[in-house]
Amino acid sequence: MDYDALYRRSIDEPEAFWREQAARIDWHQPFEQVCDHSQPPFARWFAGGLTNLCHNAVDRHVPQRPDQPALVYISTETGQERSLSYGQLYVEVQRTAAILQAMGVRKGDRVLIYMPMIPEAVVAMLATVRLGAIHSVVFGGFASHALASRIDDAQPTVVFTADAGSRGGKVIAYKPLLDEALKQAQHAVPHVVVVDRGLAPAPLQAGRDHDFHTLRREVMDAQVPCEWVASEHPSYTLYTSGTTGKPKGVQRDTGGYAVALAMSMDLIYCGQPGETFFCTSDIGWVVGHSYIVYGPLLAGMTTIVYEGLPVRPDAAVWWSIVERHRANVMFSAPTAIRVLKKQDPDCLKRHDLSSLKHLFLAGEPLDEPTARWIGEAIGKPIIDNYWQTETGWPILSLARGVDPHQAPRLGSPGVPMPGYKVTLRDDQTGEPLTGANQKGVLTIDGPLPPGCLQTVWGDDRRFVQTYWSTFPNQPVYNTFDWGIRDEDGYYFILGRTDDVINVAGHRLGTREIEEAVSSHPAVAEVAVVGVADEVKGQVARAFVVVKDPQRVADDAGRAALEAEIMRTVDGQLGAVARPARVHFVNVLPKTRSGKLLRRAIQAVCEGRATGDLTTIEDPAALQQLQEAVAR
Ligand code: ATP
Ligand code: MG
Repeated sequence: MDYDALYRRSIDEPEAFWREQAARIDWHQPFEQVCDHSQPPFARWFAGGLTNLCHNAVDRHVPQRPDQPALVYISTETGQERSLSYGQLYVEVQRTAAILQAMGVRKGDRVLIYMPMIPEAVVAMLATVRLGAIHSVVFGGFASHALASRIDDAQPTVVFTADAGSRGGKVIAYKPLLDEALKQAQHAVPHVVVVDRGLAPAPLQAGRDHDFHTLRREVMDAQVPCEWVASEHPSYTLYTSGTTGKPKGVQRDTGGYAVALAMSMDLIYCGQPGETFFCTSDIGWVVGHSYIVYGPLLAGMTTIVYEGLPVRPDAAVWWSIVERHRANVMFSAPTAIRVLKKQDPDCLKRHDLSSLKHLFLAGEPLDEPTARWIGEAIGKPIIDNYWQTETGWPILSLARGVDPHQAPRLGSPGVPMPGYKVTLRDDQTGEPLTGANQKGVLTIDGPLPPGCLQTVWGDDRRFVQTYWSTFPNQPVYNTFDWGIRDEDGYYFILGRTDDVINVAGHRLGTREIEEAVSSHPAVAEVAVVGVADEVKGQVARAFVVVKDPQRVADDAGRAALEAEIMRTVDGQLGAVARPARVHFVNVLPKTRSGKLLRRAIQAVCEGRATGDLTTIEDPAALQQLQEAVAR
């Protein structure tokens, strides 16, 4: 089969298509209906079916592959390396499930997981869904305020945490941050479980806090069967990155998610049972949920859980992991590749990467220079894929699992994946744009395929209003991203719908200008924002991180490079797109997931308040930006 036939079938015969895909997982009780879409925009996939995510990720593999590593933990922070076979994972998950059960966790209860990248975090996720409870993982890098608001939203029975995480060799104590969050939160959390790694003191509050290792020793022989849940029973909630505003609590089902992930592992990521998957994300993000934890385990693969930076001890650390563990599939983010790009490319070439088939990148636009650079450095196909926390798996990518010759196209995350009825629409009228090379808002016709968000946690109204109400007469799902489709059906993402600059009546995507700026060889990273201007309505301003800071050490250097960059943009897009100013900074303000906080940059430029910044990585970055603007 080729991609076209696969995709057409998923759209023209969705019942038959998804019935076939559903056979990729075990059902305790078969479903009665493939999709109940009687109350749009809500969709119940595999209605009437009973299943369990943990059973499909762990239990069912134990007879066939008891000794195969399910999880390989590598920490360049603590120097530890540990492996859990499927057989061992099965035992560990039941122990943790027993601990949760003893604390009263039942089907539908929430377990909040605030953990560093250690195996216990993955085990806690699996143990939660084993009981039919709902996990809410909060990225370990968040501080008390962000954590408190998520505790209040999830109302957990148990919070699972650790004494500390570690980043770049620096210990970050989690427990005091959690204690502070518990003070700030309205919801009183009955139980806290602390995994003590011996990194930081973590005093326990009697009655509420428990030491994980002590509890575990009491349940070494625990046998906790899977709770069979309805296909549409929620498995977890997870917040979006908060790039454009207040994060949204995405709620995911069980059966649809398992089916979609199992399919994606085969058709998109080309990951086969027994092979090794290395995803460099964090379990705090959707990429970590889907492709560190559930996807690889559903597929019977070995998943690598990596705790550490991409550049410590050196910029080759990932590739040495690929070599040592014979990783077959790798998944990372453009932001991480841009970090490597500032390092010596030769250190990437020292390792034997023969096991590796593809490198997948997702999370933000993959600019052509970065794609080309990493492609040349590792000599593997680089496959961009576009999706959202909301969708849980790729909207756009390639289906090399069925069509190995489907070629990546630089700058494009590819073509629609099975089940996604992608349409570009006029942003004013919502009318579909059917011609090639027309720019429109990327929308998806309902029902969304299996695995996508069911609703916003506790807020059906917000789900309908946020995502499905952009165009009055067209109830379609809005991604809030601009796209364009070429003659061959490849899509290009041009940025978010709130990232358009209107210069004297010309509408320009910030993404296009960023591409042009980053093609200048001195540029490592760039952010372009539109800033209010009395004459032109808006003008573009560029914030650039250079590869060699010496070049912008003084006024003369800065002025020279600014002029060069402006000429580069003139040459590629025309003078209309030329940034009014190019500012040089050491670091750009980003979310903890590595996404540019354009709205904050824009606010600084316009002298406005910066809004919700709970997810910012480094507040000092904004300070620096302010200074650059003032200069
Ligand atoms: P929020 O919705 O809270 O503002 P967010 O959109 O950054 O945060 P995520 O769900 O993590 O939260 O990110 C999804 C978004 O990331 C997409 O809508 C898109 O803008 C961007 N994105 C993801 N992958 C790609 C890609 N391959 N190419 C271009 N953009 C991408
Ligand atoms: Mg979003």
